[in-house]
Amino acid sequence: MNKEELIKIKQKALDEHIPIIMDDTLEVLAEILKKERLSRILEIGTAVGYSAICFSEYLGHEGRIDTIERDPDRVKEARENIKKAEVEDKICIYEGDAVEILPTLDNEYDVIFIDAAKGKYPFFLSEAIRLSHEDSIIIADNILYKGYVMSDYNKHKQRTAVNNLREYIAEINNNPNLESKVLEIGDGLAISKVIKKSHEI
Ligand code: SAH
Ligand code: MG
Repeated sequence: MNKEELIKIKQKALDEHIPIIMDDTLEVLAEILKKERLSRILEIGTAVGYSAICFSEYLGHEGRIDTIERDPDRVKEARENIKKAEVEDKICIYEGDAVEILPTLDNEYDVIFIDAAKGKYPFFLSEAIRLSHEDSIIIADNILYKGYVMSDYNKHKQRTAVNNLREYIAEINNNPNLESKVLEIGDGLAISKVIKKSHEI
């Protein structure tokens, strides 16, 4: 990959206030991704491709990242960035709403990274579990949402998002097929390992 281009892509995204993955969050993810040569990663929320380009470093030979983005301008920029970073052969962008695209997917992913509309996190989790195998890791960014999720915050227009993030945390803690932890890193990171894949739907 072209690291110089990656630095430029990151700087431009920061200048334009695009909520790309934070450095400390990326470090934690890198530790997880490094452990094994991954063959398939699914990302929900591409933005301009920054995180996907970073993750592509950790793919095994012939590994691939599928990433979903609904904003056409961001998709266009992500495609350009992925080309500049010289990782086109590793990243496939699905353009559209993840709520519609996820149900059409039918692969097993080693790692699934959820980083999109917070109000949809519980749905993304159920789809992530469906698209996982035993030992897959499901990671959700921004899970503590500026601290709102763990406070008694419940007024304001973000209430639905906060309630859905709380529901996500409750689900990962209660689901016996997952082993989960929530880290206060970046904007909050939930990491769940699929310890058992249940086959009933
Ligand atoms: N993962 C990126 C940042 C993603 S920002 C990085 O770290 O570099 C979140 C992105 O998710 C935004 O670009 C937004 O347009 C997209 N998004 C939000 N809800 C979505 C949905 N339901 N389907 C597809 N994309 C969505
Ligand atoms: Mg994020």
